[in-house]
Amino acid sequence: MSSQHTSVLVVGGGIAGVTAAIESAEMGREVFLVEKSPTLGGRVSAMNQYFPKLCPPLCGLEINYRRIKDNPKVRVFTSTSVEKIEGNKGDYSVTVKITPRYIKDSITDPVHPFEQLEATLPDEYNYGLSKKKPAQIPHEMAFPFKPVVDPVALEDESTKAQLEKIDEVDLSQQVEEMTIKVGSIIWATGWKPYDASRIGYLKYDEYQDVITNVEFERLAAVNGPTEGKLLRPSDGREAKRIAFVQCAGSRDEAHLPYCSAVCCMASLKQSTYVREAFEDGEAWIFYIDIRANRYESFYRKIQDDEKVHFIKGKAGGIERDPESGDLFVISEDMENSDMVRIPVDLVVLATGMVPSTADDKVPMDGLTYDDYGFLVANPDKAVYPVGCTKRPVDVSASVQDATGACIKVQSN
Ligand code: SF4
Repeated sequence: MSSQHTSVLVVGGGIAGVTAAIESAEMGREVFLVEKSPTLGGRVSAMNQYFPKLCPPLCGLEINYRRIKDNPKVRVFTSTSVEKIEGNKGDYSVTVKITPRYIKDSITDPVHPFEQLEATLPDEYNYGLSKKKPAQIPHEMAFPFKPVVDPVALEDESTKAQLEKIDEVDLSQQVEEMTIKVGSIIWATGWKPYDASRIGYLKYDEYQDVITNVEFERLAAVNGPTEGKLLRPSDGREAKRIAFVQCAGSRDEAHLPYCSAVCCMASLKQSTYVREAFEDGEAWIFYIDIRANRYESFYRKIQDDEKVHFIKGKAGGIERDPESGDLFVISEDMENSDMVRIPVDLVVLATGMVPSTADDKVPMDGLTYDDYGFLVANPDKAVYPVGCTKRPVDVSASVQDATGACIKVQSN
């Protein structure tokens, strides 16, 4: 006879997963929070500001981390992936794989021992706009605030030799497997940006100064690769004229047919970055229609700024002047029945959201995904997708969704 477990597995340590873990624990459940990277925080931790209050991510994350620390019912497993889920509602056996940090538990100083290492690996926290050391604390908002050796570094013999000389490093640590017993599953593995290099005419691969909206968040962040200065990646010149190209890969049958829901607001928000950074800063927003959802008043405020220009039309191409490095956005201007060619310093592509489950499915049988890879809830199996695993949503909707899933779990 199978036993019934009330404990909950939450997979994904971004804002939705962290919320689901804390709230389930505060409702009395034992929770296993599993995150495949070495730190919680997900994509929110890499933002400069987020809605609704336009505060830095530390505002929301710090209080949640404190709630996790204070609640013994939440057990956090970072650098951990879910390999297999077997069983049924109320009685699941979950096999997880834990990659070691390759750092001794006895470490007392998490920073200085690694200062001697050279930054040689692309830093995924900065979306590759800077390099990181082969061993370091992942970023200043990391939770846990502990260093980690990037397993990629171990593929290079000379880097490995450097790491072996550091007393605090222990490369003998082994990958471990563990089985967890739970009754319900909340899947919160979030999203990834649509691969902009697939939209050939927007020249993301060709011109360094064509970047994505998530990369622009890192440029604007004081803990980012330029310490918050809006500089062109190609030559470090100030980016005072910035174009935002909406629906880059979204609402397009050749790419993502759906609306990604958040990228209009992301660009409106990001236009304030350039206006605040430079007195003479200017922004152009190329759009099909603006979907401001619950933030109409914010949209109206941006419309009132005469240095933010809205051009209704789909940007059809980007050219570059080899002398000045200026980029030109070529677009129809539907309101003036014209074509425009606007010179700018930087182009930001408002790329859409792809659910992580489009490529990385839940390793269990009997679940359903929609045409684009979003996971469909299955109450009969007590499996609940939350946030962007279910549909494209912003941070506050993700948090609400996570709370809703916890209430559903309570009924199991
Ligand atoms: Fe396009 Fe705006 Fe929808 Fe994003 S939110 S896909 S930019 S309409």
